[in-house]
Amino acid sequence: GDFPIETDTIVIGAGPGGYVAAIRAAQLGQKVTIVEKGSLGGVCLNVGCIPSKALIAASHRYETAKHSDDMGIKAENVTVDFTKVQEWKAGVVNKLTSGVEGLLKGNKVEIVRGEAYFVDDHSIRVMDENSAQTYTFKNAIIATGSRPIELPSFKYSKRVIDSTGALSLEEIPSKLVVIGGGYVGTELGTAYANLGSEVTILEGADDILSGFEKQMTALVKRNLKKKNVEIVTKAMAKGVEETENGVKVTYDAKGEEKTIEADYVLVTVGRKPNTDELGLDQVGIKMTDRGVIEVDKQLRTSVSNIFAIGDIVPGPPLAHKASYEGKIAAEAISGHPSEVDYLGIPAVVFSEPELATVGYTEAQAKDEGIDINAAKFPFAANGRALALNNTDGFVKLVTRKEDGLVIGAQIAGPSASDMISELGLAIEAGMTAEDIAMTIHAHPTLGEITMEAAEVALGTPIHIV
Ligand code: FAD
Repeated sequence: GDFPIETDTIVIGAGPGGYVAAIRAAQLGQKVTIVEKGSLGGVCLNVGCIPSKALIAASHRYETAKHSDDMGIKAENVTVDFTKVQEWKAGVVNKLTSGVEGLLKGNKVEIVRGEAYFVDDHSIRVMDENSAQTYTFKNAIIATGSRPIELPSFKYSKRVIDSTGALSLEEIPSKLVVIGGGYVGTELGTAYANLGSEVTILEGADDILSGFEKQMTALVKRNLKKKNVEIVTKAMAKGVEETENGVKVTYDAKGEEKTIEADYVLVTVGRKPNTDELGLDQVGIKMTDRGVIEVDKQLRTSVSNIFAIGDIVPGPPLAHKASYEGKIAAEAISGHPSEVDYLGIPAVVFSEPELATVGYTEAQAKDEGIDINAAKFPFAANGRALALNNTDGFVKLVTRKEDGLVIGAQIAGPSASDMISELGLAIEAGMTAEDIAMTIHAHPTLGEITMEAAEVALGTPIHIV
């Protein structure tokens, strides 16, 4: 056999969890090796967050270019060169993934290409096409992420596609069926609707974007309706038949069987942790039946020198959660007392309008018996929102009644994804509504909506009666 290579910390998977953990561990003085079988940057940079936001941005430009008459802008013959859109999107992805490579190298992290599996609790084996190498480690961080669930009756093919397929289409479908109205289905459905596809979303539950408040999802649904997107709720997708140049999808809705034809069907019904081919049983790492790895507040698994982060551990499958956990795990390995606190983790949908939430919702706070005050301020009462011709939405602040402590916030509206960070900071820093109200926000900005919501919480708003 080969001679094992020794390292302090080995990281498996170079997504937003793994590459961040590797950099932080190296910064803290460890000798770090990161193993990646696919592309640096993981799902997020290659086939998730980044390309989806690029596609959404391009589709939004196209859509707004066509519909700015009310601002006095008349654009005639606006067209889409979809090949060019895809090339531009690929360029964005390439810039970022090569950036990750530079950052890893700059921090002296050794990058190993290949697929890793555990031999025992202090060694892994890495295979690539024509070689195998053993690495021994003091500590390991597993960050292997997740993959789309495949429904047995919807085997992926050229026309039955997952999110990766939907991001790399070579043509704009004239008809697209989306199975699953979660955030991925809603975002990609919106993007293709903007680009001119006739989109139908089939959702099994009684509403899309479960987990977000009805008053928020209602705004998204109204907007999708304007784009002629049909949303069928309580729809159970049953099967698909591929035709010569399309698909026929059958589903049950209200006890009736229906068929719908389309060019493609995008199936986005959740993701499955990549923990089944890692040899984890061999090491005795505890998992749930769904393959989710159990961890403590430092992201330590049931084997004390092995940590796990990102989509393979409990909690929302989000890139910033993976990165946050990566930092904590790297710090824990270096002997720091760091622990996770998930209250400040935001969740965002890049829909129209954007939706964002952090901390408690009103309902969650009430469920836990916390006496709260919910204060709302609309985008429509903000000068900047008006000047942007984009006034749909609100900021809602959830504060503790006894002392005004900010414990949650929900935003629906343009730039909600960026605005939510201020409220994450407020939660993290233990600020009150008064702190936000007293912070001078530049005028005219959307941030003033947050300041005014805090004023509402105090009972002294200026721009609303
Ligand atoms: P991943 O990013 O999945 O990376 C895991 C890496 O491990 C992969 O590169 C894989 O090749 C590698 N790997 C797996 N097994 C092995 C092995 N045995 N050996 C070596 N390497 C291995 N999240 C957000 O926060 N915001 C968004 O806007 C957003 N948009 C999304 C849009 C789409 C379409 C999708 C699909 C996801 C989106 N997500 C978004 C979710 C986000 O992509 C994931 O939460 C995030 O990528 C998880 O990071 P991770 O590090 O846990 O794993």
